[in-house]
Amino acid sequence: MKKHNFYAGPSILSEYTIKNTAAAVENFAGMGLSLLEVSHRSKEFIAVSDEARALIKELLDVPAGYDVLFLGGGASLQFCMAPYNFLKKKASYLDTGTWAAKAIKEAKFFGEVDVVGSSKADNYTYIPKNYTVSEDSDYFHYTSNNTIYGTEIKEDPIVKVPLISDMSSDIFSRPVDVSKYDLIYAGAQKNLGPAGVTIAIVKVDALNSDRPIPTMLSYKTHTDKESMFNTPPVLPVFSVLQTLKWYKEMGGIVALQKKNIEKAGLLYDEIDRNRLFKGTANPEDRSLMNVCFVMNEEYKDLEGDFNKLATERGMVGIKGHRSAGGFRASIYNAMPISSVQALVDAMKEFEKQH
Ligand SMILES: *Cc1c(COP(=O)(O)O)cnc(C)c1O
Repeated sequence: MKKHNFYAGPSILSEYTIKNTAAAVENFAGMGLSLLEVSHRSKEFIAVSDEARALIKELLDVPAGYDVLFLGGGASLQFCMAPYNFLKKKASYLDTGTWAAKAIKEAKFFGEVDVVGSSKADNYTYIPKNYTVSEDSDYFHYTSNNTIYGTEIKEDPIVKVPLISDMSSDIFSRPVDVSKYDLIYAGAQKNLGPAGVTIAIVKVDALNSDRPIPTMLSYKTHTDKESMFNTPPVLPVFSVLQTLKWYKEMGGIVALQKKNIEKAGLLYDEIDRNRLFKGTANPEDRSLMNVCFVMNEEYKDLEGDFNKLATERGMVGIKGHRSAGGFRASIYNAMPISSVQALVDAMKEFEKQH
C-alpha cells in the first residue's frame, strides 16, 4: 500500500506526475529514447519547457513583462541571486524563520539590509505585524510560508516598494498578485516536482543593475535565452510540467486553495479539540501547508508512542524539524484529504488510549 506521505520536502507528488515521469524515463514523447538521454535542445524537450513556462504564467495569472526561468542551485542560490541582481543600496527583509534568516545573511554581502521585523525570540511562532518598510528600499523580501515553523503570510504584503518572495513551500497553493513582485522564486521540491529545479518569475524591466554580475548568476543571462543558457534540469522540468497539468485539471489555483483550506481546517480542528495535542503557531498565522503541533506538557513523554502509532498506520514524515521539535504534517497540494483524515483518526484513537 502507498504510504501517507507527510514529508516536508522533497515531498508528495501527484500520481499523475509520478506515472508520466516514469513513462517518459522509459520512452519520451514517442522518440524511442529515455527523457534522460535526449538533447535539451530537441524540439520535443523545448516543447516541454515552453509548455511548462506558459502554464506557470496561465495558472498564476502572470502579467506581461515577466519571464519564467528554470534554474539550478535550489532556493538557497536565490538568497544570493536576488540581492545580487536587485539590491542597489538598501533592501528590507522580514525575519520569519530559518530560511528567511539565510536570505538575510546573503543579502548583507550586497548592501544595507533593514530587518523590519523578526519573531526569532519566540522561536518563529508568529508573523511580525505592524512593521514599516521604508520607501527608499529597493525591495521588500519575505518568505511566504515558513516550512519549519508552520506559519504563513497568506496575502501579498501591502508596501510601497516592489516585493520579492521565497514561495518555495506554498507556491500554487493560493492566488498571488504577481504584478506587485520583481521576483518570485521557489525550489520545486515542495509543491511542484522533484528536487533539482528552481522556478523564478522575474520582472524583466526591473533587471537594470549597474553591478557586474557573473554570467550564471545574472537573471538577464537566463531571460535572454528563454532559460536555455545552459542545460536545464531536464527531468525535474518535465515532472513540474506534469504537476502543472494536473493542477489545471484540478480546476487551477482557486480550486487548490479551497481544498487546502479544507484539509488544513480538518487537521487544525482536531489539534485544537484533542486534549493530548496543541498547535505551536499563532492561530492567525497558521500555515495551510505545514501543520506544526506538539503533545501537551503533561503528555510529552507520549511523543514516541504517537509516532509509532502513526508509522504503524502507514504514515511517514510527521516528525517535526529538529529546530522545532514535536510533529509537523506537511499537507501540500498533492496530499489527498484521505491522508489527512487518516492522521486525524490516529490522533482520536491515541486520545482514547490515554
Ligand atoms: C526548502 C526551502 C528552502 C530551501 O530550498 P533548497 O532548494 O534546498 O535550497 C528555502 N526556502 C523555503 C521556504 C523552503 O521551504
